[in-house]
Amino acid sequence: MSAISLDAVDLEYPGGAVGLRGIDLRIADGEFLALVGPSGSGKTTLLRTVAGFLTPTSGTITIGGDVVAGGRRPIAPEHRGLGMVFQQHALWPHRTVGKNVSYPLELAGMSRSDRKRRVSEVLELVGLPGLESRDPSTLSGGQRQRVALARALARTPRALLLDEALSALDEPLRDRLRLELRSLTRAAGLTVIHVTHDRNEALALADRVAVLDGGSIAQIGTPEELVQQPSSAFVARFLSDANIITGVVDGGRFHADDHPLEVVLDVVEGARQGRGTLTVMPSDIVLGPGSPHDCGAGVITSSLFGREASDVVVDSHGVDFRCSVRGPRPAVGDGVIMTIERGMFTPTSG
Ligand code: ADP
Repeated sequence: MSAISLDAVDLEYPGGAVGLRGIDLRIADGEFLALVGPSGSGKTTLLRTVAGFLTPTSGTITIGGDVVAGGRRPIAPEHRGLGMVFQQHALWPHRTVGKNVSYPLELAGMSRSDRKRRVSEVLELVGLPGLESRDPSTLSGGQRQRVALARALARTPRALLLDEALSALDEPLRDRLRLELRSLTRAAGLTVIHVTHDRNEALALADRVAVLDGGSIAQIGTPEELVQQPSSAFVARFLSDANIITGVVDGGRFHADDHPLEVVLDVVEGARQGRGTLTVMPSDIVLGPGSPHDCGAGVITSSLFGREASDVVVDSHGVDFRCSVRGPRPAVGDGVIMTIERGMFTPTSG
């Protein structure tokens, strides 16, 4: 059984803005799902709709087998059995850490002694043992975020919803909390939906990643699937900085529009004729020496260090190409010839 499922969920904001469009999503028990996408793509709307702060215009949402939206009456957020953590740690400043964490337990009518035990348990779980009597204002940003996490976990939620929960933290603390969050949720078998604008964080943490575009799911899959087999130019560009080149396939070659670039067809995957776009991953462009008259000739305009490969931009006939270069870092100003080793051709629809 899915822990959370959404069936044909649409959401329109008052005034007509599209929040969500035709969302079908099944999140398995214990699965860690990350939602990514450009600003305005619907990540927050999707999370808030699952939480119950927004009601779908149509469609059904089920949590742990219970229909919480789209049934006869929507279930209020506090009765959905979810834990939430936001970017800005919304702790009560005038209550101790212990009181902050025990508040949801008080609401649930738990006895004082049980509350005390549970608060100490979850503070231990998030790495803050014994901090019950501290004032949140005396804690670091990372510690406050852990308290928010402890509060979200106190009532053993059916799922944990994270809304940019790590985004306000600085590295390397953020990186450490990321690792801890992953091992903690895995050990507890928690189902997690994690909204982040950070694509690398999403790919690093999640079992599956959903890429949103205009309120719809553009693609959902494991990090490997999304990076190795993006289903569209949009996903390839969003996750991997792919180069998207428009042009036409003719006579066994792809000819770029407004650019002398030609690519022989045996390196092109996908359909084999007509107009369309060629999607080329930065790692599939090889730079080498050659004559400035070659069709892939260009000049390096940016060359940034990366652990695995340098992130290089080549200006070729007025068009920027993003290339990932292993080995020695090329110098800005160098003349190079680009060879495209692999590309995916997508015909223009219609
Ligand atoms: P993201 O979290 O991916 O940045 P959002 O879910 O915030 O995206 O927004 C999705 C779409 O819904 C955007 O077009 C946004 O302008 C619109 N939207 C978000 N909140 C509201 C609101 N309260 N009223 C009207 N439109 C909204």
